[in-house]
Amino acid sequence: MKLRMRGATPAIAFLFAGLAASPLFGGSAATSYNEARQVLDAGIKAMGGLEALQALKDLRRVGTGTGYNQGQSLLPDAALTTRAMEITSVQDFARGRSSTEVTNVPTGGIMTKTRAVLSGDSGFGYSLVTRVLTPSAPGAVAGAKAALRRDPAVLLLTARSRAETLRSLGDETVDGKRNRVITFADSDGTQTGLYFDADTGLLSKFDTLADNAALGDAVTENILSDYRDVAVGSARVRLPARVVTKVNGDVTQDLKFTVIEANTGARDDAFAAPADAQTIPPAPTGAVTVTKLGERAYLLAGGSHNSLAVVFDDHVVVVEAPLNEERSLAVMAKIAETVPGKPIKYVVPTHYHFDHSGGLRTYVAKGVTIVTTPGNTAFVERLAAAPHTIRPDSLSREPRKPVIETFTGKRVFRDATGTLEVIDIGPSPHVTEAVIAYLPKEKAVFVADLFTIPVQGPFPPANPALVHFSDKLKTLAVDTIVPAHGRIGTMEDLKAALAVKMPQNPQ
Ligand SMILES: [Zn+2]
Repeated sequence: MKLRMRGATPAIAFLFAGLAASPLFGGSAATSYNEARQVLDAGIKAMGGLEALQALKDLRRVGTGTGYNQGQSLLPDAALTTRAMEITSVQDFARGRSSTEVTNVPTGGIMTKTRAVLSGDSGFGYSLVTRVLTPSAPGAVAGAKAALRRDPAVLLLTARSRAETLRSLGDETVDGKRNRVITFADSDGTQTGLYFDADTGLLSKFDTLADNAALGDAVTENILSDYRDVAVGSARVRLPARVVTKVNGDVTQDLKFTVIEANTGARDDAFAAPADAQTIPPAPTGAVTVTKLGERAYLLAGGSHNSLAVVFDDHVVVVEAPLNEERSLAVMAKIAETVPGKPIKYVVPTHYHFDHSGGLRTYVAKGVTIVTTPGNTAFVERLAAAPHTIRPDSLSREPRKPVIETFTGKRVFRDATGTLEVIDIGPSPHVTEAVIAYLPKEKAVFVADLFTIPVQGPFPPANPALVHFSDKLKTLAVDTIVPAHGRIGTMEDLKAALAVKMPQNPQ
């Protein structure tokens, strides 16, 4: 070794030379980028090459599969219930449009058929059963745009367009096979991990990490397989015909495409509103509104999910803590403003479904007792213990164990001012333990999901859960029905909803 370096001993010079020569030294952004770039370029080549992928203007897919109802099943600790799915989609990458039609046939439920459309900077959801069209809220438009950018067919081009954010994460074994893993940050900031099969170079998986109100820090994985050749003009690309989605390790969707066609020419009418659609605005997001239901009961609405507050001599009982911490804090603030000085002592979730329990952590953080049915105890404990390091909430900042009180059948809250009964009317076809809240004096019942009263537009076809709810109501004197979704209604509304039948051929 002949080294002539001023000011450095031969030993130190040797050390520097060794570092500089090592190709796997991951200590710099440039090295990590270069490694990732090689892996990405090899992945693009394995899918048919840059030119062929860039020539892909639109894609039509037809498939079938199974949806798994994570956070929406019968019991929180049993196997997830499923629904059969049929899907037809058109992705118009060239013009930023997508149209996805999904038919869901849930076990024990009734079929839904919906179309979700993105067209430039707007979009809508359309029910082919009720013919109701709902313009997409800004969040839904952003989500649809992200889904289009991260479609498996163009995901590698999206990563390439964000080249400055590419980094290598080294190797990982996926299903017994060595994968090379890289990551990039999408234009919305979403960090996306890309896993390439080391043998074929094909993308085998991509994943993202985000906060989930019920699950905590949650990984969403999309596992790609059954690659097949798809003609793009005279070229060919290789695209996955099977896509399995997992959230925190649980399969939530398993789709197999039988038709994958490129550049068939996306027709404008696929993205247009159907002529006979009834347009109804989406549920508002934001401020909590208060409606007095009686001397001491209040409906807290003004969003997609309502809560009920019942005021006693020295405390308040809240029924339903939906969505997330943001919603809980807004509801709590509104209660404090409406009935100052009365602390919330109990919160009663109607059922465990994630959208109806996502706000419970905020109540746990404040030491509010959760009153629920026995099947939800372990779920509430898990929810309270779930790590939220990505997006800390009040409970993760000051962790504590939930105070849980369980009841079977009925629990009555009573003092000199009145009575609130929470009643488990389950097993319901919607969820096994299904709690409604009953105010005998007001002759009012609060109900979640079993009966929804649209603010505008028609009722959907009556389903088994509605029929079950209606039967259970027969033992109670009820004038007013207060739903967790929608507007306050009457027994006449229930009668009208029960009469709605499934149309013959929704299309
Ligand atoms: Zn539900």
